[in-house]
Amino acid sequence: MDFPTRPIRETMQTQLQNRVLFEQARSYAYRYLDQQGIRSVFPSAQAIAGLSHFDETLPESPQSACDTLAMLDEFGSPATVSQSSGRYFGFVNGSAVPIASAARWLAEIWNQNAALYVMSPIAAKLEQICEIWLRDLLQLPQQAAFGMVGGSSVANLCGLAAARYSILKKLNWDVNENGMCGAPKMRVLVNQQAHSSIFKALALLGFGKANLELLPADTQGRISDKHLPTLDSSCLLILQAGNVNTGAFDDFEKLCGLASQCGAWVHIDGAFGLWAGAATRTRHLTQGMQLAQSWSLDGHKTLNLPYDSGMIFCNDPKALTGAMHASAAYIPYGDQRDGMRYTPDMSRRARAVELWATLRFLGRSGVEELVDGLCERAQYFSQQISHAGFHVLNDVVFNQVLFACDTPSQTSAVLKIVQASGEAWCSGTEWQGEPAIRLSVCSWGTSFEDIDRTILAFRRANMF
Ligand SMILES: *Cc1c(COP(=O)(O)O)cnc(C)c1O
Repeated sequence: MDFPTRPIRETMQTQLQNRVLFEQARSYAYRYLDQQGIRSVFPSAQAIAGLSHFDETLPESPQSACDTLAMLDEFGSPATVSQSSGRYFGFVNGSAVPIASAARWLAEIWNQNAALYVMSPIAAKLEQICEIWLRDLLQLPQQAAFGMVGGSSVANLCGLAAARYSILKKLNWDVNENGMCGAPKMRVLVNQQAHSSIFKALALLGFGKANLELLPADTQGRISDKHLPTLDSSCLLILQAGNVNTGAFDDFEKLCGLASQCGAWVHIDGAFGLWAGAATRTRHLTQGMQLAQSWSLDGHKTLNLPYDSGMIFCNDPKALTGAMHASAAYIPYGDQRDGMRYTPDMSRRARAVELWATLRFLGRSGVEELVDGLCERAQYFSQQISHAGFHVLNDVVFNQVLFACDTPSQTSAVLKIVQASGEAWCSGTEWQGEPAIRLSVCSWGTSFEDIDRTILAFRRANMF
């Protein structure tokens, strides 16, 4: 039988053999890094206009791979947000530690699927080591199970799903079997200022906003125990390590203590704040969080891993694996770690590679230095922006500074000017009903000089 020739397969084989594409990508990457200091923090209008080059119809036949990569560099690189510039303070986005990027580069070529041990023994091994190291570093309970997901949004979903599974089970209801229709009533208590991903996860899990007990927040965005209703074992209490605007932490000692006396499940959304537990100077902020049942956190925030590095820890491993249960004749669970037992997704890249490499590179003292450095620069920014005549609205306990100008309209105008300047970038928010600017020091690369330049940009903008 005659098969047709397959030219694209031969092309790809050549690409793998001669490495031209990879060398090309490497040289673009190095040039991108070299231009870090001079690149505008946010792309210029011209760079954004250049994105129209991507408005092509799908090619009918193969195109040059080298040209394709060149196009990414020519029109893509200038339209990136310079996350690693040291003067990017948007959201809580973080930067990337070099060893993390390098390890991911290598892992990209490995192209492992971390779903099951038989798909990747190395991915399973590194997840297992990271679980042990992180429990130690963050002072989490020794039996807490660990799963690697895309981010805290999914990690929150995992923690809340485990809570739902466990609480309903105690009420003699198997949620996997019977679903939510007709399920016994469980109570969900949540800060009215919880992160939007918490409300999304609760909606996905079938609770709905109308069924939540919303708890009022104090001036820093924390739950006040004065407003905490009486808890019982049908309760899921959702707390927060690091309010996304103020960086404030709930009083875990008190709240987790109360909840554990009643047998309520506590989930802590610790996306960036849980890392406070890794440094002596900030550890008081997470004091008492060990009494919770589940914790979400992001590697791509405070730890400065590249994106797509969320984590769930659960002190009730059976509840987590029960909630995430999937079975099929072709899925061979074994005695070794099968990563997908702890996550909603099945096929996943080997996220533990850069996590492991970064933890090994930094060690305990390196993580501490990283966390301390972010807090220190946030403190410095807060002092300097006050001297510059702005109003700091939060207690700067961690890496977030929330501030405003004399009037709401001036606040909005100044933020726009700084964002457009390309000198620095932070995002805006609304705080106590008025516009505010939120600056998150979340890049290891941010120096005191970067802060000084950012202050200058704000001073200039405030003169208009
Ligand atoms: C960033 C963040 C999230 C969402 O995390 P993703 O990784 O973006 O999904 C949830 N909660 C808090 C407090 C956050 O800061």
